[in-house]
Amino acid sequence: LRRKIIAGNWKMNKTPNEAAKFAKELAVKLNNSGAECVFCVPFVDLIPVLEAVKGTTVKVGAQNMHFEANGAYTGEISAGMLAETGVSHVIIGHSERREYFAETDEAVNKKAIQALSNSLIPIICVGEKLYQREQGITFDLVRMQTRIALKDISAKTAENVVIAYEPIWAIGTGKTATAEQAEEVCKAIRAVLSEIYDETTAGKIRIQYGGSVSPANAKELFSMPDIDGGLVGGASLKMDFEQIVCY
Ligand code: 13P
Repeated sequence: LRRKIIAGNWKMNKTPNEAAKFAKELAVKLNNSGAECVFCVPFVDLIPVLEAVKGTTVKVGAQNMHFEANGAYTGEISAGMLAETGVSHVIIGHSERREYFAETDEAVNKKAIQALSNSLIPIICVGEKLYQREQGITFDLVRMQTRIALKDISAKTAENVVIAYEPIWAIGTGKTATAEQAEEVCKAIRAVLSEIYDETTAGKIRIQYGGSVSPANAKELFSMPDIDGGLVGGASLKMDFEQIVCY
């Protein structure tokens, strides 16, 4: 029913030349993989990567954007700029942006609204830190992050949103959440989507898992009922990303 979506988050890696070469080689292997496949790359890599994946089913996304349409925001990039390049997706509220660039839930909400009004698919990241899991507040926190992110977004529009559940303790650590741990949180996110909207809408919104996804664990994670794919960091920088997409 829900098409799987597997996105690579390259983070701050690969120069434009490296990016184009790698994307071209990998996109051919991922062409018609069945899953929706997206490379989320640094801003200056977007245009070369869009060119490199041309003629394949691979899509290209950004990793951030500003919430205003334009204006005096030195160093920032707007949703309209991204849309015009041919980018289809944008990661919003990644834990690294929340942690190092002080992004709040309110900013995430404004960015999501701006992305959607420019026909970009926002991949909205939520997730708890280790101490929050240990305090037993994972579910409350993730529910709250989801609610705030989707404030003032209608059910019809929300169908296009992708939510990425990324437990922060599993990012770049090699400590993957077990498939059961990931599923119980993704299931709780779907339940809150049902509360905000309705069951039909919640059933259409895709929820990814992210955090140390690898060829070894992708199949088990992506086979869980409420996990509709993944947001992959480190393992998306290598050719074996193919094994994650074609698991
Ligand atoms: P890793 O796959 O490197 O753990 O990163 C996950 C992530 O942050 C994807 O957005």
